[in-house]
Amino acid sequence: MSLILETTRRRTFAIISHPDAGKTTVTEKLLLYGGAIQMAGAVKSRKTDRGATSDWMKMEQERGISVASSVMQFPYKDVMMNLLDTPGHEDFSEDTYRVLTAVDSALMVIDVAKGVEDRTIKLMEVCRLRDTPILTFINKLDREGKEPIELLDEVEDVLKIECAPMTWPIGMGKRFKGIYHLYNDTIRLFAQADGQRASEGELIQGLDNPRLDELIGGMADELRDEIELVRGASHEFDLETFLQGKQTPVFFGSAVNNFGLQELLDGFAMYAPPPKGRETEDRFVKADEDKMTGFVFKIQANMDPAHRDRVAFMRIVSGKYEAGKKLKHVRIGKDVKISKAITFLANKREQAEEAYPGDIIGLHNHGTIKIGDTFTEGEVLKFTGIPNFAPELFRRARLKDPMKMKALQKGLTQLSEEGATQLYRPISNNDLILGAVGVLQFEVVAQRLADEYNVACQFEPVNVATARWVIGDKAEISKFLDKVTDNVAYDAADQLVYIAPTRVNLQLTEERWPNLKFVATREH
Ligand code: GDP
Repeated sequence: MSLILETTRRRTFAIISHPDAGKTTVTEKLLLYGGAIQMAGAVKSRKTDRGATSDWMKMEQERGISVASSVMQFPYKDVMMNLLDTPGHEDFSEDTYRVLTAVDSALMVIDVAKGVEDRTIKLMEVCRLRDTPILTFINKLDREGKEPIELLDEVEDVLKIECAPMTWPIGMGKRFKGIYHLYNDTIRLFAQADGQRASEGELIQGLDNPRLDELIGGMADELRDEIELVRGASHEFDLETFLQGKQTPVFFGSAVNNFGLQELLDGFAMYAPPPKGRETEDRFVKADEDKMTGFVFKIQANMDPAHRDRVAFMRIVSGKYEAGKKLKHVRIGKDVKISKAITFLANKREQAEEAYPGDIIGLHNHGTIKIGDTFTEGEVLKFTGIPNFAPELFRRARLKDPMKMKALQKGLTQLSEEGATQLYRPISNNDLILGAVGVLQFEVVAQRLADEYNVACQFEPVNVATARWVIGDKAEISKFLDKVTDNVAYDAADQLVYIAPTRVNLQLTEERWPNLKFVATREH
């Protein structure tokens, strides 16, 4: 198929939701539609959302699964879906943020009883930075929850986005009878899911169909009145407004019963945007350009314990990947032949023969690829907008066995390549200081150092309150280094960082060095 056809049939998206709303269940069911049945159930075992460290560790042991499912490609009707997993726990939000730079749309899953929750609010804010179009699935209609109208009001008020109901629930909880599709004028009756199959409730054409009265009795007339009300009181779906990120089409259902998801997938196929181009420092790269370009948004170490590999996840922005393709690794100015990229079709880690804009391919990485790196067919370009955040928590690594220093350094360096933690090496001593955005990260790193690098290490408090990347011209930097040696370090990418013992100290330093910039977010 041609590049243009393949590109326009791609839909690359991620799920944003609060833990427990049903992300895992939705993912699992969506894969059923793509025929990736062997996956169902497997998704469950790698979940990170419980927040408990032990759960995360267990997931780590099942790494084979965890990794393969960080990108899932599956066909649905004429389209090819790329579903990117976002880590669930709050401590991984930086990672989540970067995954969201690699998608073209997002699916927001909301629990009908709980409504809009914290984490959804945060993730929405991230999506808003790029005006990512959002589809919404209201889950768990087989349980009692908030009135649908109230819930849509809540979404509009709290998340500041218009809601356009696409389907509408008929009752809920024990009285849940099905959904009405406002645009197809069809009613799908609710049927409990039967194992792994999609539930196939009867489909009735037309709200006025007497069959409806036969099946749900008095609720049929209630529904007719309600739909009239809903049509009058809610926004009509408008493609343009949706594509601008200002309106979300809303679907109702029950993921665990595999109900209402087909309507959602049809919505994705029909309305979600195909792969968009991306901004670089110099120009906008369009998705339909012939030459291949892509950027790395995620790195994962030791995905497969059998092979000590690290994989860099690259989003293809334009052009076509074919096995053996030669690409320029722009940051280091080197040409590399990509012969063994991983694709994620139907959740098998397979060697990619070809891949198109919107697709994600996994590159084997031996430490040369970093988050934010751009690959092209020769043009010198740098994709922008893939940020690193300065961590707010710091600990010094203390080794139990001093002979293991090399292994510790290697482990900390490789794990910090994944982007969830930052490693700092002060210039004035041999400390290894780890920075993280969440406290759980230290436990995770300690555990992984033990499991994957055979190093026992503890993290102890260190006198660092905050860190800033230091940017300025060479002369000024060298003056700075002469004067301020104690609180200066290099990060894993050898960038200069000021590690301030207190916030006041940072402020004073900033005032003292007006020609230098101290930045909290660094674009790769
Ligand atoms: P996640 O934390 O967002 O990944 O949520 P899960 O998919 O793990 O779901 C959280 C809990 O809600 C699990 O116990 C699911 O079985 C349950 N759940 C998911 N979807 C539904 C649904 O449609 N109805 C009901 N009653 N429970 C559901």
